[in-house]
Amino acid sequence: MPRKKTKLLQAPRGTYDILPEDQIYWERVFRVVKELANDYGFEKIDTPIIEDTELFIKGTGQTTDIVEKQMYTLKTKGGSSLTLRPEGTPGIIRAYLQNGLFNLPQPLKLFYFGPMFRHEHPQAGRFRQFYQFGFETIGGTEPVLDVQILQLFLHILKDLGLKKIGVQINSLGCPKCRPAFRRALIDYYKNKKQKICPDCERRLKINPLRLLDCKEEKCQPIKVGAPLFLDYLCQECHNHFKSVLEFLDELEMPYFLNNHLVRGLDYYTKTVFEVWFDEKKDEASQAPLALGAGGRYDDLVKQLGGKATPAVGMAAGIERIIALMKEQEVKISPRLAPKVFLVQLGELGQRKVLKLFEELHQANISVAESISKPSIKSQLKIADRLGSKFSLILGQQEALDGSVIIRDMESGVQETLPKDRVINELKKRLAKK
Ligand code: AMP
Repeated sequence: MPRKKTKLLQAPRGTYDILPEDQIYWERVFRVVKELANDYGFEKIDTPIIEDTELFIKGTGQTTDIVEKQMYTLKTKGGSSLTLRPEGTPGIIRAYLQNGLFNLPQPLKLFYFGPMFRHEHPQAGRFRQFYQFGFETIGGTEPVLDVQILQLFLHILKDLGLKKIGVQINSLGCPKCRPAFRRALIDYYKNKKQKICPDCERRLKINPLRLLDCKEEKCQPIKVGAPLFLDYLCQECHNHFKSVLEFLDELEMPYFLNNHLVRGLDYYTKTVFEVWFDEKKDEASQAPLALGAGGRYDDLVKQLGGKATPAVGMAAGIERIIALMKEQEVKISPRLAPKVFLVQLGELGQRKVLKLFEELHQANISVAESISKPSIKSQLKIADRLGSKFSLILGQQEALDGSVIIRDMESGVQETLPKDRVINELKKRLAKK
């Protein structure tokens, strides 16, 4: 009788495993972000992966693609509605308000790391579970704060070894000047309805700013003639943006003024920006793939129930950064080689090795083993591959008479020592290497 094959389960579409061989990239990104975030005065915050659905409706915005189409929402047994966070900012502002972080000296500078979830069409660089790191500076209006976040992100990308990075920037004004721009956009698009895509027809009704974000070929020629936000900015927004650009010039940070950059989230005011790799294109739209993006959101804290508190922030996609590190063949030094490798033979040898492992650890000597391998030869091969300086060999005989063989991995010279002398001897020999 033919045996029925059990079907192997797969990770859900748009999700993936981070395998041991890739961890080296992830660790590198974590380390660089953490170190530079600390240098720039940002403190780490972790918020839950799951939040009240209402937080994203109010925060990210009812008419955004994220809230309209991309949220993983579930009803709990108690009847409440929870959502897997599609982005980090609303959760952080909720935590800021809930924990009274506004009582700390402001601006408060926070950073985070973690998975986000969006029900998107999966493709290269676009996942349903993806990881972001991000920064938020809460409680300051100064343009220099916008620029500092951008500077920090570019610094991170540089330290990760990435090249050919570009910045696009724009201003989206504020509730004072935005209505006039919205009106002008609607007037401009009103009599071109037949020429735009169905999505844009909808945007015209519910979120006209997003008309400028359309990637459909058909809409591009119309976009070109659309009114420019910069012509509608109020004095305050104009000055703010001018100042941001002056700071960028001061830092000699090249940027491209993109009048059509609007971003997909509702909360942005004034500065918005995207940072991208010059040559990488999005499969579907052929638009550049952004590595990170952000901007100012002066009204979100109030919208979520706090006092009016200006803020600016950004988030970056870690998968895209790592993909680019691989593409640009960034060299990462492997984990530091363990100085000593423990080799055992037989059950008694194994037992002694377990103990010796602890003792070396306590003596601060980096150590590795491959305790389930039966042959000395295969264990020595691993020691070689790892680049250990010495191996300690414990066979049946050594285990019985309380000795250890110390092998210099470079010269292959071996010597038998009493076990209680081995740590001191190792320290001496390692100091000479
Ligand atoms: P956003 O939160 O939409 O402003 O996106 C910020 C950054 O997160 C983007 O520039 C991407 O690098 C990354 N990102 C956003 N959505 C995804 C996704 N579905 N898959 C992978 N990375 C993403």
